[in-house]
Amino acid sequence: MTQSALNTRHHNRIADLHGDITAWRRDLHMHPETGFEEHRTAAIVADKLRAFGVDEVITGMATTGVVGIIRGAQAGPMIGLRADMDALPMQEHGDVPWKSVTPGKMHACGHDGHTSMLLGAAQILAETRDFAGSVAVIFQPAEEGGGGGGVMVREGLFDQADCQSVWGLHNWPGLPLGRFGAISGPIMAGIDYFDITIRGQGTHAGLPHLGVDTVLAAAQLVTAIQSVPGRSVSPHETATIGVSMFKGSDAYVVMPDQAVIGGSVRYFDDATRDVAEARIRRLAEGIAAGFGAEAVIDYRKNYPPTINHAAETDTAAQVAAALAGPDAVLRESEPCMAGEDFSFMLNERPGNYIWMGTDQPGRNNAMVHYPDYDFNDAAIPVGVGYWLGLVDRLLPAK
Ligand SMILES: [Zn+2]
Ligand SMILES: [Zn+2]
Repeated sequence: MTQSALNTRHHNRIADLHGDITAWRRDLHMHPETGFEEHRTAAIVADKLRAFGVDEVITGMATTGVVGIIRGAQAGPMIGLRADMDALPMQEHGDVPWKSVTPGKMHACGHDGHTSMLLGAAQILAETRDFAGSVAVIFQPAEEGGGGGGVMVREGLFDQADCQSVWGLHNWPGLPLGRFGAISGPIMAGIDYFDITIRGQGTHAGLPHLGVDTVLAAAQLVTAIQSVPGRSVSPHETATIGVSMFKGSDAYVVMPDQAVIGGSVRYFDDATRDVAEARIRRLAEGIAAGFGAEAVIDYRKNYPPTINHAAETDTAAQVAAALAGPDAVLRESEPCMAGEDFSFMLNERPGNYIWMGTDQPGRNNAMVHYPDYDFNDAAIPVGVGYWLGLVDRLLPAK
């Protein structure tokens, strides 16, 4: 896959800008900012949008979110293209020259690439204007757990930018560069979090009969929770529950008066989620009561599942195929059990979230969230070409 294999009428302009966009991407990579703290990133995005002559630049939505509205030469509907801007709270272990200069933070999910590619598309759209309608370029904060996309929706994203459809893109290690994954229906999991505190009676480890053993009760609960996906959810549905946290005493000889477990529930269907939550609550209360203890349950909805709309996914697949070739688009795949807060936008407007392949032979193709991950800059023309192809397709000039 080379850039010359891309079939786009914007080929020459994208090639002109590839160096600039790469420089923006590497600068963002060097200066990663985590959820709702993307102040430098948001300022760069807003400054560039203004410099490109974007008609409206809205800042401060969901603290650091930025929306640019680009009007075409002809009237028509508005569509929304979304990128995420945040980095992850982890230490970079790669040795690229543009390695993070901020200890404990890195762009390990390629949001530096997403932001830069959408900026590049915005620049070309603002230069050409040869489309009928408006394009909202949406730069959201806090995708990695903070739910910045949901906050933007609640703060009136679609009142200020009345998009008739919304479109997301994520770089996808594991797929070769030049390929896309346009999967209809469930694509990314819904995720809830829970913390359960078992309260009992602390005691000396040598005098267990004088206490209520909260660690033993919590251990039973950890085991019992695994019966939820196995025995309460239909074999035809998906639910994955991971109890990843377990905190008891700080001493070998002290039985604690409380033990705390925590974890996540992942699912694709709201009814499955409801079953899982109800069963976890009953198990916690029942097991705690059986041990003479008490359960305090904090169960929180986090991200809804990301469900791609069928018609828009067909459109996305056609745009990707027109750009990269008829065999370039994967239409069937198991969904990913990670979460994605573009789901909040897809719950409000029809749209699609597409995977863009980035793997190349001879390159470090580390998976996202790995400490030596680095966005593949060779994918920039593919991503920019996809965004522009989508505008050509959805808002054709008459
Ligand atoms: Zn991520
Ligand atoms: Zn990501």
